[in-house]
Amino acid sequence: MTKLDLQALLGGNRRALAKAITLVESRLESHREQAQEILEQVLPHSGNSIRIGITGVPGVGKSTFIEAFGLHLIAQGRRVAVLAVDPSSPIGGGSILGDKTRMEELSRREEAFIRPSPAEGALGGVAQKTRETMLLCEAAGYDVVLVETVGVGQSEYQVAGMVDFFMVLMLPGGGDELQGIKKGIVELADALVINKADGDSAKLARITRQQYSSALRLLHHASGFWTPRVMTCSALQLSNIDAVWDMVLEYRDQALAHGGFESRRASQNRDWMHQLIQQMLLLKLTTNPEVKRLLPVLEEAVAAGRTTAYAAAREVIAAL
Ligand code: GDP
Repeated sequence: MTKLDLQALLGGNRRALAKAITLVESRLESHREQAQEILEQVLPHSGNSIRIGITGVPGVGKSTFIEAFGLHLIAQGRRVAVLAVDPSSPIGGGSILGDKTRMEELSRREEAFIRPSPAEGALGGVAQKTRETMLLCEAAGYDVVLVETVGVGQSEYQVAGMVDFFMVLMLPGGGDELQGIKKGIVELADALVINKADGDSAKLARITRQQYSSALRLLHHASGFWTPRVMTCSALQLSNIDAVWDMVLEYRDQALAHGGFESRRASQNRDWMHQLIQQMLLLKLTTNPEVKRLLPVLEEAVAAGRTTAYAAAREVIAAL
């Protein structure tokens, strides 16, 4: 990427942004190096957005919500990037999230940038690429970044670990059973938003809201200054979408007042560094030729009882 491209990216040029993201997502070592260079350069221009994570089971209305929410944000003068962390995307294949056809109106807007989930890749996987893409989008002037993921697997934890505000979309009903959403996820949530609060479901949604509100009161939120909210909305009928955004702004104001905004990002970056160190070590271990040679020999020795597992493990580490 040339200096000119970098200027274009910082000026909000979509093609330059897409080009940089392609480098970030590439598996080629030379591209990865280029990408890291760009990231170093854009870092001072990044960080100026509100990062919002959105999760929920398939069918809860994530794309409908993001379309409505995104258009509302644009109406407020914002620029919105939508990224996806999709655990089910097959290697090199398509993805079920962040798909343009799922957010038709939003994807046509100049103020929106929608990027489907990258295929699982090298170090750090999809989460690493999404983090890096987020920085690029911020540098290109997008001031709200929505990171979408399905509520299955580990991806929600990864997303919760990269955003300022984490929201779980839920369905009306089943409030006493947490709808198969893992309790750990609800504990991470800054808000539960019960979608499809319309028509026949409106009343049920209100009841569900009360049930969750009482359940949440028993949980302890990590921040110390924020009590997770439970809200209802209808992404289809566009009701309460503005209230959800107002809540995010309220959180941001409170977090800024308590220093919670920066400290959350700081601890996310620290955690991420530690995860990367572990992954890098593991990669080093599995690709080291001496270790490769030693391993079968030591495995055999341990199996035959000629050496202890501890001594063998130490020998492998020493060979690194
Ligand atoms: P996703 O799989 O979580 O992205 O869910 P979708 O956004 O694709 O929505 C799944 C289905 O629920 C679609 O048929 C939507 O039209 C419908 N849906 C989404 N939001 C609402 C809502 O607020 N009310 C109602 N009644 N239906 C909705």
